[in-house]
This record gives sequence, structure tokens and C-alpha cells, in this order.
Amino acid sequence: MTPTLIQVAYIGAAACFILALKWLSAVPSARRGVLTGVLGMALAVGGTLARPEIESYRWIAVAFVLGIAIGIPMAMMPMTAVPQRTALSHAFGALAAALVGTAEYFLRGSGIDRFSMGALALEVVLGFLTFTASLMAFGKLQELLPQRPITYKGQNLVNLGILGGAMALGVYLVVQPGSAALFLTMATLALVFGVLLIIPIGGADMPTVISLLNSYAGLSAAAMGFMLNNKLLIIAGSLDGSSGLILSIIMCKAMNRSFTNVLFGAFGQVQTSAASTTQKGYRSASAEEAASILANANSVMIVPGYGMAVAQAQHKVRELYDVLGKHGVAVKFAIHPVAGRMPGHMNVLLAEANIPYDALLEMEEANSELVQTDVALIIGANDVTNPAARHDKGSPIYGMPIIDVDKARTVMVIKRSMNPGFAGVDNELYYIDRTLMLFGDAKAFVTELVKEVQAQAA
Ligand code: NAP
Repeated sequence: MTPTLIQVAYIGAAACFILALKWLSAVPSARRGVLTGVLGMALAVGGTLARPEIESYRWIAVAFVLGIAIGIPMAMMPMTAVPQRTALSHAFGALAAALVGTAEYFLRGSGIDRFSMGALALEVVLGFLTFTASLMAFGKLQELLPQRPITYKGQNLVNLGILGGAMALGVYLVVQPGSAALFLTMATLALVFGVLLIIPIGGADMPTVISLLNSYAGLSAAAMGFMLNNKLLIIAGSLDGSSGLILSIIMCKAMNRSFTNVLFGAFGQVQTSAASTTQKGYRSASAEEAASILANANSVMIVPGYGMAVAQAQHKVRELYDVLGKHGVAVKFAIHPVAGRMPGHMNVLLAEANIPYDALLEMEEANSELVQTDVALIIGANDVTNPAARHDKGSPIYGMPIIDVDKARTVMVIKRSMNPGFAGVDNELYYIDRTLMLFGDAKAFVTELVKEVQAQAA
């Protein structure tokens, strides 16, 4: 392939990445977005493999086989494990960037120019710290490591000192690139910093941290682009860096948290709220009773959450939507921006079950309708419905915008037990007198509901 064709492939790839991000941001065009991203990546890899400076494909073939062997099982991880899968892919991406930087440093030796050394130092520091931080995040989400934040006095100072040390070495290497020992010390400090960065952050904040790490991995790739003079890497890395940052900001806003609170707030350490300290009563109901309330309602607002995803209940929920619709009940869905374990989690599942997009309401719209809604049916959601977020200043989720299900005339909650959700706090919604607990697995319970509603119609 001529250099011009390679540049054309790169421009095509960059255009595909930009379009993919645009289309991924709306449910109806998301599939097109994924395919366009895949096409972009194929163009980028194809163009790179065609570069004339590649003398032998032997090691590239070995890397391909290894990548495929790791990638296929990762692609099979369930939807509910997407955050940890994403953490793993960031770890590998960041490691690749850091290793390329390290190889370039040793290949170019002390003759490396200052600009390239600056970009290389940034790439290596960001790459290595993202590698270990992402592995730690994976370990916490997969519950291989303790979820709770581990803190000690002076922790932030120690962490900043280590990061500052790595950065100072990077600056020194720009002026005096010759010392391999200092380069290796800088890389080691970055690796250690990645571990220490995650230790004080609770499991509940990992999805936000992962998208921040996404941003770091992107910046590392962009720095690699500057170092290798590869425009596609600069474009793709910048897109990755900025989209990761935007996603983290969206998540922080949806939880009413600041970046500093996520990174240094040790969220998840205080596991009790005022509500959980006293024993209170709650009411439960059978599928038959619940079905009768639903069938006699005029309007039902379904609030899906993580439990619907775990139970894979979305197709049964679609059946319930259909059967209630036939009964003349107006059914809508209230989608909280951080319901589930990643933004858009609920939209993806409900779209998979072919629930019409116009039945899905965003939080603000749903809240304005809930006041006139007969039944709020919560399916495996917990934190995103907890009224304590509105008034209990001692609650870890205080200030997080929630779906105001307690404003509906009747509230029904499908979950397996009285156990708390992701934030580890008790939900006072379960103890108000208009709430009925429907205990069971989401898929099994919704299946029962469908049968009962059908039986009542017959
Ligand atoms: P949640 O608070 O984690 O609650 C999920 C509930 O589902 C649990 O209380 C659990 O209760 C129930 N459940 C689990 N398996 C079930 C099954 N098979 N059948 C029925 N119920 C089941 O979930 P959420 O309300 O969706 O809130 C999301 C949480 O994740 C928030 O705290 C949010 O801040 C956090 N988060 C989300 C994101 C994101 O991007 N989406 C990012 C960062 C953090 P039982 O065990 O009793 O069944």
C-alpha cells in the first residue's frame, strides 16, 4: 500500500471513530455506532499493517493470536460484568501504550529529542498508572479484592508525593534523557501510584473511576501519537480521553458527587444511615395480589434497576408491558441515568426486549408524571429510588437525584430480600405504608405477574 493510501485509511478510521461516538450516544443509532467503530478499527489496523517499515509479521502474528485468545473470553463476559470488562480492556490498552513508550525509549537511546521525550514520559507515566489502577478496579468489581475503601492518615500526601516524584523524573529525563535507571524508577513509581490511587476508593465508585481511567488511557495513547508522529493515534487517543472524561462528569452529576469526592471521599466506608439503625415493619404481597393492583390501575411506571439486569428479566418485562397494555393500562418506564452498573444499562436491556423508545422516560420527565401515577413498579432497583437521598444528610447517597417513586399512589418493589443495593444503605421506601414488597427473583416474579394478569383478564 502506498503512503497516500495508508493516510486515506487513517483519515477514514478517524472519521469512523467520530461518527461511532456520535451514533453511540442515542439508542436508535447505537448498533450503527458499534459497527462503524469496528470498521474504523479495521481500517486503522489494516493501514498500520501495510506500513512499509514493517519488515516481518512474525511477532505481530503471535500478538494477534494472543490478543484473540484473551479477547474472545472477555467478549463473552455477561452484560452485568461490563464495568469490570471495561477495566480489563483499559488495563491492556494502557499497558500496550506504556510498553511501546518503554521500547521506544530504549531504541532511541539518549539521542531522543526533548519534545519526543516529554510525550514519551507522559505516555509511560499515564500508561503504567492506568494499567495497575485498572487491574485494581477490576479486582474490586469482580470482588477479588475488598470493596471497602482503605484509608490511613496522610494518604493523599503519600499518593501525591509518589505521583509528583514520577512527574519530576519525567521532567528531568526531558533535559537529561540518558539515565535508564531514572526512567525505570519513573515507570515503577507510576505502577505503584496506580495501586495506591484505587485503595482508598470504595467499590461503589469503581464505574466512575473506570471511565476516568478510560480518559487516562486515551491521553496516554494521544501522547504516544505525538511521540510516534502518528496522527490517527492522536485523534483516537483524544477522542477516548475526552469521552471518558465526559462520561465521568455525567456519572458524577447523576450521583451528585464531585470528582474530588469520588477520588478522595472514601465513599462506601460509612455503611449505615439513620434509617437502618431501627427495626421497622414492611408489607409484602403475593404475585396474585400485585397482579390485581396492576390490572386495575390506569397508569403504571416501571422503574428498572440492576436486579432486572442480573435476572435478565427484560423480555418478561416486555410481556408484562404487552399484557397490561391489552388491559388498557398505560405503562411507561422511568430510566435513572445511573440505574444498573453503567450509563445507558437499562436503555440497552429494554431496547434488546424491543420496548418502544417512546415508552422510556428520563428521570425529570418521569418524576413530573409520578405524582399522577397509580402504581410505581420497581424491578430490581434500589439506590436510585431511596428517598433518603433527598433529606438524610447522613446518608452516603444524600444529594443523588432519584426517581420519586414514593409520590405514586402505590409502590411495589420486586427484589429478593431486604438487603441493600450497591451503595450499601437501607432504603426507607420499603417501610412506608403505600409500599408493597414483592419478594423473589425479578424474572420469576414478573413471569408470575404476567400469568396472573392474563388469568384475571380471562
Ligand atoms: P442497586 O441499588 O444496586 O440495587 C439493585 C437491587 O437489585 C438490590 O437491592 C438487589 O436486592 C436487587 N436484585 C439483585 N439481583 C436480583 C434479582 N435476581 N432479582 C430481583 N432483584 C435483584 O441498583 P440500582 O437501583 O440500579 O442503582 C445503581 C447503583 O449503582 C447506584 O448506587 C449507582 O450510584 C451505582 N452506580 C451506577 C453506575 C452506572 O453508571 N449505572 C455508575 C456508578 C455507580 P436483593 O439482593 O434483595 O435482591
